[in-house]
Amino acid sequence: MEKRIYNFSAGPAILPEEVLKEAQKDLFMLPGVGMSVLEISHRSKTFDKIFADAVGGLRSLLSIDDNYDILFLQGGASLQFSMVPLNIMPPKNKADYIVTGAWSKKAVKEAKRVGTVNIAASTEEEKFNRIPKQEELKLDPDASYVHFTSNNTIYGTEWQTEPNVGNVPLICDASSDILHKKIDINKYAMVYAGAQKNMGPSGVTVVILRKDMVERSQDSLHTMLNYKTHTEKGSLYNTPSVFGVYIISLITKWLNELGGLDAMYNLNKEKAGLLYNCIDSSNGYYKGHAEKDSRSLMNITFNLANEELEKKFVVESTAAGFSGLKGHRSVGGIRASVYNAFPKKGVEALVNFMQDFQKKNS
Ligand SMILES: *Cc1c(COP(=O)(O)O)cnc(C)c1O
Repeated sequence: MEKRIYNFSAGPAILPEEVLKEAQKDLFMLPGVGMSVLEISHRSKTFDKIFADAVGGLRSLLSIDDNYDILFLQGGASLQFSMVPLNIMPPKNKADYIVTGAWSKKAVKEAKRVGTVNIAASTEEEKFNRIPKQEELKLDPDASYVHFTSNNTIYGTEWQTEPNVGNVPLICDASSDILHKKIDINKYAMVYAGAQKNMGPSGVTVVILRKDMVERSQDSLHTMLNYKTHTEKGSLYNTPSVFGVYIISLITKWLNELGGLDAMYNLNKEKAGLLYNCIDSSNGYYKGHAEKDSRSLMNITFNLANEELEKKFVVESTAAGFSGLKGHRSVGGIRASVYNAFPKKGVEALVNFMQDFQKKNS
């Protein structure tokens, strides 16, 4: 293959070319170190610097103050489905979950093993095509926390602003839209995200945790499942994903050089807007899955008239150099994931392809 193709995969997903090229150099030998980034000790000065760059990068992009710890853990966002309730649900052992897709449901499944789960709202009956409205939320003011999923990777819906939960701690699975725009971190008790969608490679999970939450973790928990272990040891209780943290450090640098998260957000709105415009101006040829006020800027989901046509779309788009457009196996249809690193010219090329496909096949 001579040139990189357009990667619309939902995750692991596209990374910025600049980041890949820098990593390529450091993969053989880090300047002044004489070893690959894959070969250095996690207890070396070199890694200390990489780690500090990753933490500092996240702190500056999201304005995260010292009241929060930033952890780099393993086990994916999926392990957080367990760690969150194990650590933060006691002592009341009840929590509110807002269910907006398959990942929210998986989080509920694990939380139920720990305590009582109140489903504050669910849009499952509508095939998760929208985000519930504030007035639909049946929140318990005495809950240990409220958990929600900011972007529903499979269905292509996204919270436009976080739910208002009063004084109850708010916990967010932001795996597929972290760093796509600036959020007010002070509204959250915790944000977690697997890195492999919008932030880096698989194998590392970022956990941003307000310090008062850690006090809930009980000593009876298994060491590796206890947030206290990881905050006290600065994510170095065991060997972290050195490479994952390194890529996150490069991603944060790339975002800062781009102008920070406001610049990134504007670009994301432009990119997603091109695709939604194409869908909306297709006279119903392309049917968006998400309701308009719930549309995701990261994962654009749509259907054609029938499965046969969708299959044809996937085959022909793949041949034209667009990878990863097939919808999630559980919902079918088409999904274009256009994370931060996805270039605008790739979106423009897909829009051209879609318009052309419509002309030829209607
Ligand atoms: C991909 C994804 C997950 C699962 O992440 P893993 O790192 O594979 O465990 C969880 N939540 C959301 C919103 C996701 O998109």
